[in-house]
Amino acid sequence: MGSRIVRPVVRSFKARFSAEAAAWARKGGHSVYWETDKRAVLVFPPPDPDDPHDLGFWAVLDLAKQKYTVMDAGPFRGLATTLFPRSHHDIARRRAERDSMWPGPTRKMVLDCLECAACCKDNEVQLMDVDVERFADAGRKELARPPLARKRDGKLILTLLPNGKCRHLKRDNKCAIYTCRPDACSEFPAGSECCLYARAEELGIHDGVPPGG
Ligand code: SF4
Ligand code: SF4
Repeated sequence: MGSRIVRPVVRSFKARFSAEAAAWARKGGHSVYWETDKRAVLVFPPPDPDDPHDLGFWAVLDLAKQKYTVMDAGPFRGLATTLFPRSHHDIARRRAERDSMWPGPTRKMVLDCLECAACCKDNEVQLMDVDVERFADAGRKELARPPLARKRDGKLILTLLPNGKCRHLKRDNKCAIYTCRPDACSEFPAGSECCLYARAEELGIHDGVPPGG
């Protein structure tokens, strides 16, 4: 079993290939468009604001950003764009290298979260007010208190076991608090860059060309 998902394939384009970068994104792919050697733009289909699982939106979050611009002119008219932080340029190159084996702008995958659970390991889940309220409504206020949750740098986060696993991850990879799990968990989309990263880091599964491969 598993869920069928369609994920964007990442391609890198030099500045003179803006039309190709736009065409790739119009077909559902994610383009890394190098305006110069030091300035890279992510070009992607505009996210659906009503879909918390939209992979384009999550690609922005994965750059530690929230904002993107839907262009109203130029070669990327109608497409969403956001600048890669300089600190993420190597990540952008690595994604394009990983996806170089996939021929089209999108790729179908089957992902079984119960076989995986990679994102429930070494992942500090931040709790928001809505999560704390949900815990209280479920009669589980302790979920937002030590030792199950702690404040760090002003953020309330779920604590991890010494082995890096979430304390609520059961042996069968099910979530012990599934019905009231945090939004950060329920909205985390399979097939996103965050998901692919977790699978690579935790399970050594690279959806494409492995590093140095
Ligand atoms: S890393 Fe991806 S496939 Fe694995 S459990 Fe999380 S969402 Fe599912
Ligand atoms: S709360 Fe549940 S879904 Fe969220 S990280 Fe922990 S085990 Fe995974």
